[in-house]
Amino acid sequence: DASVEFSDVTFSYDGADRDALTGVTFHAAPSTVTALVGPSGAGKSTVARLICRFFDAREGAVLVGGTDVKEIPFSQLMRHVSFVFQETFLFDDTVEANLRLAKPDATDADLEAACRAARAHEFVTALPDGYQSRIGQHGNRLSGGELQRLAIARALLKGTDIVVLDEATAFVDPENEVALQAAIDTLVTDRTVIIIAHRLSTITGADQILVVDDGRITECGRHEDLISAD
Ligand code: ADP
Ligand code: ADP
Repeated sequence: DASVEFSDVTFSYDGADRDALTGVTFHAAPSTVTALVGPSGAGKSTVARLICRFFDAREGAVLVGGTDVKEIPFSQLMRHVSFVFQETFLFDDTVEANLRLAKPDATDADLEAACRAARAHEFVTALPDGYQSRIGQHGNRLSGGELQRLAIARALLKGTDIVVLDEATAFVDPENEVALQAAIDTLVTDRTVIIIAHRLSTITGADQILVVDDGRITECGRHEDLISAD
């Protein structure tokens, strides 16, 4: 069961004088897309971090597949959940090595299929040494959207049924925008996706939108419900 659920979750960072999340409750059903929207500092990233257990809820519970994440060993949790950051975490190694972290026994065909699905194959093969190019070395040639598509390829290779994604904003050109949308569309098929959404097409396409403000969920619904409520 690839559901994600927050039950009355309250959390504050060490030393912070106020809660980052207060009484957050929601249910993301298996194979649905939940978009988190709201102003900077609202608590969206904190929701994402609690799913991945970078931190634990102070009160309430975060459940993955119906089980409190505190009861799930990290190794097992990481087999279920992929995290695609906005500041893409790729190691200063080759493209291939970064992809193989997700699936050490992947064949070259597996790598290529994942990159094609994530709309990364074209720019990877255009790098001087293709899949053997180092990320750091060529990092300045890759845009934020391209790096994120590589991270999506890695998540696809890992094959987790839950993906937490902080949508990249570090690029603006329409070509990248279209490719990233296509990559996300592939990723969301048959997976439970919690996405910190920055793009309208992601928001309108979501099964559920959570409006986060000042650590609370102030609205929840589909796009058409939320706009008609105004
Ligand atoms: P974003 O979610 O926009 O990608 P971050 O998660 O890095 O950005 O930060 C979100 C907010 O949390 C920002 O307002 C930032 O200043 C604040 N923040 C991040 N890390 C810390 C920290 N270690 N101490 C205090 N505030 C932090
Ligand atoms: P969003 O992702 O919506 O921009 P965050 O979840 O990053 O918001 O931040 C929620 C609140 O927690 C903000 O008040 C932010 O400043 C604070 N915060 C975020 N990260 C940290 C951190 N590492 N240490 C202290 N405070 C933080």
